[in-house]
Amino acid sequence: MAQKKSSSNKAAKTVTKMTKKAAKKAAKKNPALVIVILIIVLALIVGAGFLIYHFASKNKNNSKNHDHQVTEIKNPDISIYFLELGNEYTGDSTYIKAGDVDILIDAGSRNASAGTISSFVDEYCTDGKLEYVIATHAHQDHIAGFVGTNAVKGIFEKYECENIIDFNLHNTTSKVYNDYITKRDAEIASGAKHFTALDCWNQTNGGKRKYQLTERVEMEILYQDFYEKESDDENNYSVCVMFNNMDNHYLFTGDLEKAGEKSLVAKNTLPQVQLFKGAHHGSYTANTLDLLNVIKPEVVCICCCAGSDEYTSNPANMFPAQAAIDRLGLFTDKIYVTTVVDDKNKYKSLNGNILFASDGSKYAIKGSASDTILKDTEWFKANRTWPTK
Ligand SMILES: [Zn+2]
Repeated sequence: MAQKKSSSNKAAKTVTKMTKKAAKKAAKKNPALVIVILIIVLALIVGAGFLIYHFASKNKNNSKNHDHQVTEIKNPDISIYFLELGNEYTGDSTYIKAGDVDILIDAGSRNASAGTISSFVDEYCTDGKLEYVIATHAHQDHIAGFVGTNAVKGIFEKYECENIIDFNLHNTTSKVYNDYITKRDAEIASGAKHFTALDCWNQTNGGKRKYQLTERVEMEILYQDFYEKESDDENNYSVCVMFNNMDNHYLFTGDLEKAGEKSLVAKNTLPQVQLFKGAHHGSYTANTLDLLNVIKPEVVCICCCAGSDEYTSNPANMFPAQAAIDRLGLFTDKIYVTTVVDDKNKYKSLNGNILFASDGSKYAIKGSASDTILKDTEWFKANRTWPTK
């Protein structure tokens, strides 16, 4: 083998010598040919450089996916993403992945948010199918993205929605509500199954109380009185959902208000929860101690544009409200908020898209913009105070 190698080296040296000789000869004979060869070599170098640059930027784009991953949880049972909606308006949209099952709870805040939501979802959902879509109640900031615009396909059109679970009652007759019903019914006509939260609770029309998503994750539709009792407040019709992940629990109550929270506690045996989606965007009219004393949340994620005057001119009541923080803060300082707006109504990320990932025994949180807990943010220091126990 060694002999072979040395003889092949010898051969290579001879070839190189011959090539050099040939090159010298050629240069003497035909200088134009040498220039042509040099140009070809130069072109090859530039081409290789371009290819390297191209692949490097492609990899950079691919790594965008990993911005939203939590390295501490190697194999999450469930990844829950609280989305920023691409404008200065508060609204909810939560994308959840458990194994191969894709779930979307709400699609606020405006019709055009459909584009922001779907471009995020498409990073993770590769088969164009959402197994479960939940619309908590009939307000624009929760359903507009299901509708979309002429230019941007709504969620019902963009995805094959296998199961749609939504509110049983509504007061509103708004355009966005009517558009929601039109688009939802078109999706049902093309094969989607549809249940109201009351169907699920009563186990009628094919609805179920519990959906086993994976071996380790179950989705449970909870009961509250306003599935079938009228309320002046549309928010109280909100569908309430618990995800049970072994001994860990994650609670979503839409914009449920005080009376709804009271009923939720009375009608279910609620466990202590690791994650609570801050109710009604962190409003002082929700997040009551009736509920919090039972669920004792360890992490609270709030979808809102902090400090926006969209719903009130009273700074203390702007989401997330001081009174809500006074109560939530009794249980945890792990409060995260998607977005903040400045006095010119310009929005920017606070935590950004917030990921809560869990393997059923431990969990971690990561914001696309920052991991800073609310009480340590500049916005909080300038606008809110932390409760003293
Ligand atoms: Zn809302």
